[in-house]
Amino acid sequence: MLALEGIEAGYGETRALFGVSLGVAAGEAVALLGRNGMGKTTTVRVIMGLIRPSAGRLEIDGVSAVGLPPFRIARQGLGLVPEGRQTFPTLSVAENLIATARPGAWNLARVYELFPRLAERQRQLARALSGGEQQMLAIGRALMTNPRLLILDEATEGLAPLIRAEIWGCLARIRAEGMAVLVIDKSIDALMELADRHVIIENGVTVWTGTTADLASAQAVRDRYLHL
Ligand code: ATP
Repeated sequence: MLALEGIEAGYGETRALFGVSLGVAAGEAVALLGRNGMGKTTTVRVIMGLIRPSAGRLEIDGVSAVGLPPFRIARQGLGLVPEGRQTFPTLSVAENLIATARPGAWNLARVYELFPRLAERQRQLARALSGGEQQMLAIGRALMTNPRLLILDEATEGLAPLIRAEIWGCLARIRAEGMAVLVIDKSIDALMELADRHVIIENGVTVWTGTTADLASAQAVRDRYLHL
């Protein structure tokens, strides 16, 4: 459903991506890997229409999405959990969730069932939540758009181990229900468990793509690009 081929993009005069290629099929879970500053977030920004690529192919369901504004990309079924969460601080938990709602299987009741902590705190302002709760809210808000593909930039960054485990469990559940997932995170173990395929970016270029089994047996690739 999502295909990038030879994507080049940057910030003003600064080029960050020099040839990113990746694909996500319906229902597939793909991990986007690479060390800090290699271009993962920039790739996500290109996918979501926040940065226009200067070259390359970006397609959703086989149709070019280059130049579409973010709201149109969202309507095509891509939901983003952005780096740094970016919940609306002065809105309540419930208001944050309702703000992005579109019809579909995911609604307030289902998000509260997935994250009971959000149900307990539904009337609190988002800024009063812990980091883990804010991440749950960011995931819930993306689910409320009823995406076909959920994109998570730093799924569990900076969170306590128990909260991380809870978030990975929820992502496994979302995945098992057939939603496609494109996920960035530092926890390679969790990604190996969740994802079907892995794409590694180095200095803005896709340098390796393979299955979880491929990556598990490719120690040289992990040494070279991930320093694991
Ligand atoms: P991290 O894991 O640290 O978030 P990343 O793989 O997501 O890294 P990007 O954030 O996409 O990497 O950064 C790729 C390159 O683009 C880096 O050289 C970075 O300094 C640069 N860059 C990122 N954001 C901006 C910006 N807003 N303006 C200018 N340059 C930027």
